[in-house]
Order: sequence, then structure tokens, then C-alpha cells
Amino acid sequence: MNSELHDRHKAVLPDWIALYYERPIELTHGEGRHVWDADGNRYLDFFGGILTTMTAHALPEVTKAVSEQAARILHSSTLYLDRPMVELAERVAELSGIPDPRVFFTTSGTEANDTALLLATTYRRSNQILAMRNSYHGRSFSTVGITGNRSWSPTSLSPLQTLYVHGGVRGRGPYAGLSDAEFIKACTADLEDVLGQACGQVAALIAEPVQGVGGFTSPPDGLFAAFREVLDRHGILWISDEVQTGWGRTGDNFWGWQAHDASGPPDVLTFAKGIGNGMSIGGVVARAEVMNCLGANSISTFGGSPITMAAGLANLTHLLEHDLQGNARRVGGLLMDRLRTAAAGLDVVREVRGRGLMIGIELVEPGSDRPSPDAASAVLEAAREGGLLLGKGGGHNSSVLRIAPPLSLTAAEAEEGAEILATALRTAQAMADGSAEAADEAGRSTL
Ligand code: PMP
Repeated sequence: MNSELHDRHKAVLPDWIALYYERPIELTHGEGRHVWDADGNRYLDFFGGILTTMTAHALPEVTKAVSEQAARILHSSTLYLDRPMVELAERVAELSGIPDPRVFFTTSGTEANDTALLLATTYRRSNQILAMRNSYHGRSFSTVGITGNRSWSPTSLSPLQTLYVHGGVRGRGPYAGLSDAEFIKACTADLEDVLGQACGQVAALIAEPVQGVGGFTSPPDGLFAAFREVLDRHGILWISDEVQTGWGRTGDNFWGWQAHDASGPPDVLTFAKGIGNGMSIGGVVARAEVMNCLGANSISTFGGSPITMAAGLANLTHLLEHDLQGNARRVGGLLMDRLRTAAAGLDVVREVRGRGLMIGIELVEPGSDRPSPDAASAVLEAAREGGLLLGKGGGHNSSVLRIAPPLSLTAAEAEEGAEILATALRTAQAMADGSAEAADEAGRSTL
């Protein structure tokens, strides 16, 4: 049944729609932090949070808000007043920290970043954009043009001129091994250097506070404050892409930019994914002066549609009332401890890192610093067998396991998931040791 659907999927969908797992999963329903597949298997979901389920699967308040709104009216257009849109915009504006904020809703993170680029390039009359190496910002014509990590985004002939700077990835690259202060200094010097090579005005720097697709890598706190000083000198806007880091996921902060808070809020903030708990919402917050630089009238047919706004309002209310940011900090801390213990002594694990409920485990070939996508895949498959869903990402080779559960994860579920992961990591270690031995054997036999 599953393989039949897989064959039909391959026959009709593009080759570049990647599926997880050797035997891809068809999800049929979810509840809380669990999902079920078409064969009746139940999984603890450690990745749904980054996909779209921010709070919990089938959150009753969201289900109620969506069905009540569907029964009232589904008609969608920015040409009419829309009460849920105004209400959600008011709440997001206040939470954003941006002064004199204006909010524009979209249907995805890609479209949100696209809009941010439209604003920045228009406001600054420049098509030059600074972006981070190893970054991901979406898959439209323009966002592909500013994405540093090409493994999840093809190259494009975008007319944007993109200049890439260092800073998003800490443990690898030319500045690996430096102290926080030295790293910030080196990356800021790199930014100055790149700017020195720009031709005329630069519109904006776009950056993820913690790189998501790039493998949950965080720069040291304060990097963007140091960048900000340079940007301000040149009048360059700072766009913080909070598509993965927003809404308290990082535990200590509601937004990722707040880890750099000497810099104050960004000029433009983009969000998406979990705010709708599965409904397609994205959006942009910017100072009125920047948001209103567009000269023509516009319309978005589905951006801010009443049904997505109703879902977003119910979801955000639940998140705030249940202090899920605090939960991300507490349960994320516990999970991080358990995972570090599980990884201790396994040389297939290079690093367990992250913030709150955004945790990455980087896999390498044993005894080396070489990324091991095979080991990451082995853990992914073994965890699935144990009843746990994970994500993958990182660099060009997906050697990092990404853990981003719904923010309501309980301590007991964190313990349960960590145990399944500990077994999966040991399996991957044994496989890697086995293949190293096999490679050794093969090497000896050709001597
Ligand atoms: N920005 C970041 C940081 C993302 O992680 C993603 C999605 N992975 C996007 C933008 C694009 O969002 P969407 O898939 O909703 O278009």
C-alpha cells in the first residue's frame, strides 16, 4: 500500500521533492507529540515542531478555531476588513520588539523572505544583499538567490547580487577554534572586507540567528550586535529570518535575535512555519518607514486568510498562556543533558549542540572530522524503527540530526526520545566501526 503510493509519488512529483526514509512514511493523524502512519505505527515526533506543528498535534483550540471559521466564511482577500488578521497583526507587532511596526502576512517563509527582499531593495534602491554562508531562506527565484546552502536549494539566475559572509557556522571553516570574542572579531572583519568589495549601496543583511537547514549551528551571542554597528555605519538593513527560531523555540529568548540584544531589534523580521500549527502562515514585520516604501497598491489573495489567522491566534494564545518558551528552556535543557550523556564515548558523534528545543547532533566518520551522512541516515532509520521521528540537515551532506519537537514536549517524552536515540546512536557507531573494519580489511586485502 505504502510502496504503491511511493511509486505513484515518484511518477507524478518532481525528482527534487526529497522523501525521508528508505521506506517513506505516510502520516495519517497526530495527537500531542505523537503521529501515526498508515500501517498503524505510532511515533514520538521530534521534528514536527520545525515543520509546522509548533505547540502540539491536533491542539483542540486550533481545531475548534479552524472549524468554526470554516463554518462562518473561508473567503480570503486583503480587499476587505478581516478581524482575525488585524488581531493577529496587533499581537505579532507587539511581540516583535520592532518600533512603529507594520505586519504583512504571507502563506510561507519563502514568500515572507521574498517580501523582505522586495522591501529592502526598494527602500535602499540596491539589489546587493549580504547573506551568510551555509544559510537557507527558501525556494523561490529570489530566495534561492540568497541561499548559501545549495544542497537544499538549486542555483538560480536571480538578478540579486549576493555577497556571502562568515559567521553562521561556528565549528568549521577558517575561524573554527577561536574564542567567542576572536570569532566575532574575525567575522566582523570579514564583513567589512566583503563590504569593501561591494559596488555602491548594499540593501540588507539577511541572517538566521540559528541556522536551521544548515544544521542548527549558532554563532556566539553578540555576533549580530557587532555586525549591526558595521551595518548602521552604511545604512544597511538587518533582516532576521526567524522562520525556525521564532516563538520561543530557543528557550532563553522569544526571537533568535534577542541573543544578540545589544543590537536591538532587526529592521525587518520574517516568520512562518509553526505559528499556524499546520496552517500556511508566514509574514514580515518591519518599521512603518520600511514597510511603506512600496509605492503601489497591492493585494494578497491568501496572505492573512481568515482561517489561517484564526489558527494562528488560537495557537499563539495557547503558546503564551502555557509558557511554552519556558517549557522549551526546561525540557530542552534536560534533553540536551540526556543526549550529551548518550553521545559520550561515541566517536561517531562530533557534537551535540543547540538552544532550547532546537538541538543538533553532528555525525562524523569515527576518529575523524569528516562529516558522515551515512551515520546520520543510520541513526534516522534506527530511530524510526524505535518509534522516533527526527530531521536531517547541515552543510552540503546532511550529516546533522535535527531535533525540534512540538514545544509542549514533556520531560517524560524527552527521556523516552533520548533513550531511543541512545540506542540508535550506538547502532550507527557499531555500523561505522563495522564498515571501518571492513574498509580496513579491504585495504589489507589489496596490499
Ligand atoms: N527560512 C528558513 C530559515 C527556513 O528554515 C525555511 C524553511 N525550511 C524557509 C525560510 C522557507 O520557508 P517555507 O518552506 O515555508 O517557504
